[in-house]
Amino acid sequence: MSLLKLRIVPDPILREKAKKVRAVDKFILELVENMLETMPHENGVGLAANQVGTLNKVAVIQTPEMEKALVLINPVVLERLGERHVEEGCLSIPGYRGELIRSQAVKVRAQDALGKRYTIKADGLLAQALEHETDHLEGTLYIDHLESRDKLYKVDNDPTDIEE
Ligand SMILES: [Zn+2]
Repeated sequence: MSLLKLRIVPDPILREKAKKVRAVDKFILELVENMLETMPHENGVGLAANQVGTLNKVAVIQTPEMEKALVLINPVVLERLGERHVEEGCLSIPGYRGELIRSQAVKVRAQDALGKRYTIKADGLLAQALEHETDHLEGTLYIDHLESRDKLYKVDNDPTDIEE
């Protein structure tokens, strides 16, 4: 396994759409392994392929309350319920946090590292991370959802902050 280099704004790859993974082959498995190693190293609760320089629909998530990381290949948000105000950061936008509206709960369909399809229903931080990472794979960043520019704050890098 190896640590991957993080792509930071304004890297154009963050604005591209990732492509559907046709087969979970050796390349994809290696990408998953490396993303699973890179995410905690960068103190992230989530990481999408664009952020490590590849355009395959792959993301990983591990919130503090999760024992095991979630591998998402070809994730699709099937349902969004409710709204809530959240604060959010992104590993690709260091030094900033923003306030935006996310769904209260989401239902997502994806494939795991074995290529097996599953659906997950989530609320709270996990729902937020699922929306954040599926957005990344579409070339969307959380700053696109800010109501206005003054909802973006400059912050000192605090290692306890949750970044996605
Ligand atoms: Zn992010």
